[in-house]
Amino acid sequence: MQAPSLGGVHVPRGDGKTVVRLRHGSSLNDFADKIDANPASLVTVLFHLGEMATATQSLDEDTFGTLAAELGYVVEMVSAEEEDRELLEAFDIDLEAEAEEDEANLQPRPPVVTVMGHVDHGKTKLLDAIRSTDVVAGEAGGITQHIGAYQVHHEHEGTDRVLTFVDTPGHEAFTAMRARGAQVTDIAILVVAADDGVMPQTIEALNHAQSAGVPVVVAVNKVDKPEANPAKVRQQLTEYNLVAEEYGGDTMFVDISALKRQGIDELLEAVLLTADAALELTANPDREARGVAIEANLDKGRGAVATVLVQTGTLRVGDAIVAGTAHGRVRAMFDEHGNEVTEAGPARPVLVLGLTSVPSAGDSFLVAPDDRTARQIAEKREAAERAALLAKRRKRISLEDFTEALEQGKVETLNLVLKGDVSGAVEALEDALLKIDVGDEVALRVIHRGVGAITQNDINLATVDSAIIIGFNVRYAERVEELAEREGVDVRFYSVIYQAIEEVEAALKGMLNPEFEEARLGTAEIREVFRSSKFGNIAGSIVRSGEIRRGTKARVLRAGTVVGDNLTIESLRRFKDDVTEVREGYECGIGLGTFNDLQEGDTIETFELREKPRT
Ligand code: GDP
Repeated sequence: MQAPSLGGVHVPRGDGKTVVRLRHGSSLNDFADKIDANPASLVTVLFHLGEMATATQSLDEDTFGTLAAELGYVVEMVSAEEEDRELLEAFDIDLEAEAEEDEANLQPRPPVVTVMGHVDHGKTKLLDAIRSTDVVAGEAGGITQHIGAYQVHHEHEGTDRVLTFVDTPGHEAFTAMRARGAQVTDIAILVVAADDGVMPQTIEALNHAQSAGVPVVVAVNKVDKPEANPAKVRQQLTEYNLVAEEYGGDTMFVDISALKRQGIDELLEAVLLTADAALELTANPDREARGVAIEANLDKGRGAVATVLVQTGTLRVGDAIVAGTAHGRVRAMFDEHGNEVTEAGPARPVLVLGLTSVPSAGDSFLVAPDDRTARQIAEKREAAERAALLAKRRKRISLEDFTEALEQGKVETLNLVLKGDVSGAVEALEDALLKIDVGDEVALRVIHRGVGAITQNDINLATVDSAIIIGFNVRYAERVEELAEREGVDVRFYSVIYQAIEEVEAALKGMLNPEFEEARLGTAEIREVFRSSKFGNIAGSIVRSGEIRRGTKARVLRAGTVVGDNLTIESLRRFKDDVTEVREGYECGIGLGTFNDLQEGDTIETFELREKPRT
């Protein structure tokens, strides 16, 4: 159905239910394509809705939503995962169908274990201890390379079992990978120092594990210390639904000393028991490999180096692979002993050489049929990321676009995240910022404060609450800058408190609705009134002060009182000529449009509204 639309342009209309699916980063061109409309007419419609955009510009979801509602459509944004799935399907790769393996092809695989816990509770020490207990590694000369993950052998109930450990201490890697949908961990070891007990990050780590549905084994560490109180740790954790087996629960607690390397075998035993009881870990090794990149960096000599964890299938030298937006051919692979390997099966971490760029931790990788396909997938992903980034950029707030957002009624509060090098500085900054007085119209809210580098968590908070991050004498934590860029979060760094305050204050003032004041331009005295049927009444006047300008605001005063207000100097003439301005002392004819109540002796006053600077 064609119906006249806003601005007289014709756009095919939906029935209010027609769904239009758009990718993130789509433009009006893409939308026009889907509804069979002319992109130019969509530009016009959007313009009438108060938004200006070109046909090729990436727009955000809100903008499409408004436009679609106007035209009778419902917009559904395709999620990044769906988009990627569609992309892969276009190359005949169906990950979902692949996941449904024939039972007959499945073989047991090692569990992948992550060590988590509060800072200083001994995660690094424990990973070192586990590494060094490995018999096979001992024979092979030990684990010589840190590649982000390693495997150890452990004799369990008479059989040689393998465990894979993700060797990136701290649960940050775990969180990042989970956030990106790449679940790598089968089991988590929660390290709790027996002399310190349950701490905030213990709980945070536990929450991550539980929400990912990952079983937990608790390593009660530092039991060698005289002040250690392992029973207290058990007791504390019951509050978080981790009840020790000896108390009738189903969580295994193992007392260890990572420092003295005691209890490590028992811990590995507990991990295997838990894995066997709670999980059925199998994979098909006889197929092209799929997995996750755990770590990656650029090496001066070797180029892009990535540690990948194979999850199913077997990765071989010579395979064409894609990891995120990186692609390439596997040139060589190394294990954690620095030995070159030619193939890697399920749950095996390997260092891979041959990628053309560096993937991110958590990027999934897959083997493509050939180099060309690998490159095309990577390029398409990159284009999709770029488009999504552009659309996002438009959306987030920066100090500069604050005024605009406020005027459009989108914000009344400036949300801030404060990070500083020492807590004293953060407090001082917060105090000073909260003292900025800009009236009732806008508020300043500090949604989070903390000491240390700007972390992923800070960016996430800022993203959710459209906050601006202020860093005082701190920088980004590793890899966080990219995230901030990607999310379009405004992060500002200062080393002088005063400067930070000044800028925030300026932004707050800028975002206030401007106040206006009148500025007198000129006055004229009416000498004679000419009645004209064509132009209305014309005031034959003499300019008494300043100047009279055409188009400016005016009012009429009679003996000091206002008899006409909100008028405009509609016409201005000297003799027979139209003029734009007449200065003091000169005569002129002034027309005030339809306002006709003019008398000899009245004063016409003209003025303009000027924005009042705030002090
Ligand atoms: P992370 O921050 O969790 O990785 O903790 P670390 O592994 O770096 O350990 C923090 C501190 O605790 C270091 O000084 C370790 O030497 C010490 N530590 C770790 N495990 C033990 C242990 O079992 N006993 C004792 N006494 N100290 C330990």
